[in-house]
Amino acid sequence: MALLATEAIVLHSFDYLESSRILRLVTRDAGVRSVLAKGARRSSRRFGSALDLFAQGTAQLYVKPGRDLDTLSAFDISLVRAELAEDLGRFTGASAIAELTLRFGREAADPALFEAVADGLEALATAPAVDTLAVTLASAWRIVAELGFAPAVDVCGECHSELPSTATVMFSHPAGGALCARCGRLAPAGRVLPPPARDALRHFLAGAPAIALDDPSGRAHQRLLREFLTEHLTDGRPLRAMELWEESRW
Ligand SMILES: [Zn+2]
Repeated sequence: MALLATEAIVLHSFDYLESSRILRLVTRDAGVRSVLAKGARRSSRRFGSALDLFAQGTAQLYVKPGRDLDTLSAFDISLVRAELAEDLGRFTGASAIAELTLRFGREAADPALFEAVADGLEALATAPAVDTLAVTLASAWRIVAELGFAPAVDVCGECHSELPSTATVMFSHPAGGALCARCGRLAPAGRVLPPPARDALRHFLAGAPAIALDDPSGRAHQRLLREFLTEHLTDGRPLRAMELWEESRW
């Protein structure tokens, strides 16, 4: 069994047997992990606030090759992020980010994914209520980009020809992004993406929320993200936190 010390963020946590808890973490050096915190419910001394949702710190894990569950031996917390629970938009947004990461992340070192999640949660923790939607969209799309399946925005997702920046384009989920006029005519279905929506998506993919979204645009962007993730999920399970984030907003 190898001991691994790595930065980690708690993305999910539930009781296990009488005295323990199981956590799902995103880590800098080992990707997404499930870990057993033995005795965590019997005594709060050992882990303290380390088991709180969205807390971040240095975790020490015993990793056994071939095992699904690591053992958490210590967790030194540097950020608690209690502010995420103070506002519904922050909390549902953070939950959607956690779900996205756990569902798509892999058990392999991915520092860029870790940074994207940490930055997103940090931005949400301080976001005014009015900005939580754009901050969550930016965080989610940046994570999608870090995971390697960002949609095409500036070139056609089918034929890779360049798309004029002023054009309204078709966005096809199966094709993986925006389409040129010719490919758009051949696509069975899609969403119409006007230039401002495409600009916003380009910003989001870079992790930048600096876009003023009116209500209809906010809804359209949430729908686009959900449809895109559903198209590219292979396990067919619904994204419940993402749905709650979408519904509770309006
Ligand atoms: Zn094309």
